Amino acid sequence: MSGSAARLQAIDAVIAYEAPNPTFAPAEAPGEVFGRNVFTKAVMQKRLPKAVFRSVVATIEQQVPLDPAIADAVASAMKDWALEKGATHYAHVFYPLTHSTAEKHDSFFEPDGEGSSIAEFAGRTLVQGEPDASSFPNGGLRSTFEARGYTGWDVTSPAYVLENTNGTTLCIPTVFVSMTGEALDHKTPLLRSQQALATQAARVLKLFGHDDPGTIVSYAGPEQEYFLIDRHFFLSRPDLLNAGRTLFGARPPKGQEFDDHYFGAIPDRVLAFMLHAERELFKVGIPAKTRHNEVAPGQFEIAPMFERSNLAADHQQLLMVTMKRVAREHGMELLFHEKPFEGVNGSGKHVNFSFGSSTVGNLLLPGDTPHANAQFLVFCAAIIRAVHKYGGLLRASVASATNDHRLGANEAPPAIISIFLGDQLADVFEQVAKGGATSSKEKGTMTIGVDTLPVLPTDPGDRNRTSPFAFTGNRFEFRAPGSMQSIASPVYTINTIVTEALDFIATELEERVAGGEEFHHAVQKVLEQIITDHGAAVFNGDGYSEQWQIEAEARGLKNLRTTMDALPELITDEAIELFGRYGVFSEREMHSRYEIAVEQYELSIAVEAKLTVEIAGTSVLPAAIRYQTQLAQNVAALTAAGVEADTSLLRAVSTPIAALHAALTALRAVTFEEGHGAGVDAALHARDVLLPAMAAVREAADELETLVADDLWPLATYQEMLFIR
Ligand code: ADP
Ligand code: MG
Repeated sequence: MSGSAARLQAIDAVIAYEAPNPTFAPAEAPGEVFGRNVFTKAVMQKRLPKAVFRSVVATIEQQVPLDPAIADAVASAMKDWALEKGATHYAHVFYPLTHSTAEKHDSFFEPDGEGSSIAEFAGRTLVQGEPDASSFPNGGLRSTFEARGYTGWDVTSPAYVLENTNGTTLCIPTVFVSMTGEALDHKTPLLRSQQALATQAARVLKLFGHDDPGTIVSYAGPEQEYFLIDRHFFLSRPDLLNAGRTLFGARPPKGQEFDDHYFGAIPDRVLAFMLHAERELFKVGIPAKTRHNEVAPGQFEIAPMFERSNLAADHQQLLMVTMKRVAREHGMELLFHEKPFEGVNGSGKHVNFSFGSSTVGNLLLPGDTPHANAQFLVFCAAIIRAVHKYGGLLRASVASATNDHRLGANEAPPAIISIFLGDQLADVFEQVAKGGATSSKEKGTMTIGVDTLPVLPTDPGDRNRTSPFAFTGNRFEFRAPGSMQSIASPVYTINTIVTEALDFIATELEERVAGGEEFHHAVQKVLEQIITDHGAAVFNGDGYSEQWQIEAEARGLKNLRTTMDALPELITDEAIELFGRYGVFSEREMHSRYEIAVEQYELSIAVEAKLTVEIAGTSVLPAAIRYQTQLAQNVAALTAAGVEADTSLLRAVSTPIAALHAALTALRAVTFEEGHGAGVDAALHARDVLLPAMAAVREAADELETLVADDLWPLATYQEMLFIR
């Protein structure tokens, strides 16, 4: 079937499509299914001996090392529970340095030698697995003769069973490390950074009189944006199928009234999907809340409640897999790509961040006494210092070929990392900077900047949607992460840079107090120093404006526009020292991450370049030539009949055809020629040569889309994909 026939059939199929379950009405209330498939603390309490249960909870809640002696008991209880739920297999789930989630499945059942089988699941099987690491990126951490990698049980993220029509699986969240214990995944550094944060936060809290603050952890609440399109269209577009984004497509005419059936039954179908997806998420304990999003046609958002960031990161990965699966059951494809459609807003994943413990509460919540507020200001100041000092690392934590299409494109924050405090808080820090400490009051009360702090509303009305890092009343919202990425790298980066700031603050305060300085005076002085040294990152204005680019440069803030500008931040001496000092990454691990990110960047653009060559050469150009031939035949026929033929249309089509031909020839050459090296050289070639060459091909092809007869056009159009559902 020719390209255009396939497209037209897809349209017919979509219009004729009947949802399998148009009025999705679950029999049970959400509360009844929530956590049903999770090996929760409550389940463990019921099934484990008391001492074993207490030991596991200590590991989960207080980061006490896991007692290996209890593994057998936990494994056995977990297995029985999973078998009762119908599980036949177990899987160590891990998060390699791609965007995906990996699972190694094994059967519970082993032959017993008597012709039957017995269910086996020992403690050592629970604690450690041994997948072949060779198919996952390692950035030089694994020599070719040692392909093994190890997965290790993360006790702090509960196991769960995943239902599938072909069988149910017990899933165990794990870390993934090399033979030599080096991190090959997203989870390991996240866990390490939580520990570092806990240590330094406790030092600061001790100075504020909290001798036993509980284990401080960071919390993350991700807001996930995505597109939904009918699966027929998805399958008819090789670019969407292979690259996740459209490499071609003229923009839909603005303000166009669409046919009635284009809009038919949209809400029902999407709503049915949302309710279904929510239910599946509830079962595995993900506290999701779906909403419609009006930003772009076909775009929606889901925001789970915030959780401990390690759990939030695991849940976020599981959410993406689950949502995609459920969308397919409803005949739709869910797109997590940051920029599936050019000229239409892309998708991000805001990461809301705070930290605290059940004992001391949220440390980013303004207090209602001056003392509590001083503590709040100290933790806020730590974030200001972190963002200013390590803005480049934050930028690098969200760097990818796909997110480059979105950052700085007036729909997402710019590549300049600044921090938004809101008028009130910014004002307080301005007072602090003016040196309230000079008018120091008597012992026991605070100095001006701190004690005039007004009671801050927890949800300040002023929201700055253009800021990459904004205070929103009781948390900071990092708005630069891409929709497709794991939230682990932004979170472990924030954890680590805040850890450094807290370490700095604790050391300063301890020294000042040891030197006889009154505590609140010392706090005032340290706040003053931080806002003086790092206030340049505070920006409350319009981050999308031209002016900000200029001002940011004057302030000395980095503007790392592309991934290849941002990634070198990972291997500066300063970055390596920082992550090394807090035990989050070794130097080798940093280099490995850098190399993997460069490689992923290059690979994803190289795939797109090849797809562009293929689609332009085998679909777009042939369709255009067919149309050109029809026009030429028409001119010839008219001329033969003695009618004067107008050749303007033929010429109008021939110009972009020639342009497409030329651009395609050029792209083919730079895509397939050898000699662009590897690593950084290849990545820079991708950015500086392939991307512009692809853009030239697209430009000519998109022009043709507006000229060629619709019944010949091979690719589903933006209008169809975005509006027919
Ligand atoms: P908005 O759209 O105004 O940014 P949403 O309600 O869409 O807010 O999303 C807020 C997200 O922030 C949710 O995931 C929520 O759980 C999360 N969140 C709320 N409070 C905190 C907190 N203290 N720490 C981390 N995340 C939080
Ligand atoms: Mg938000």
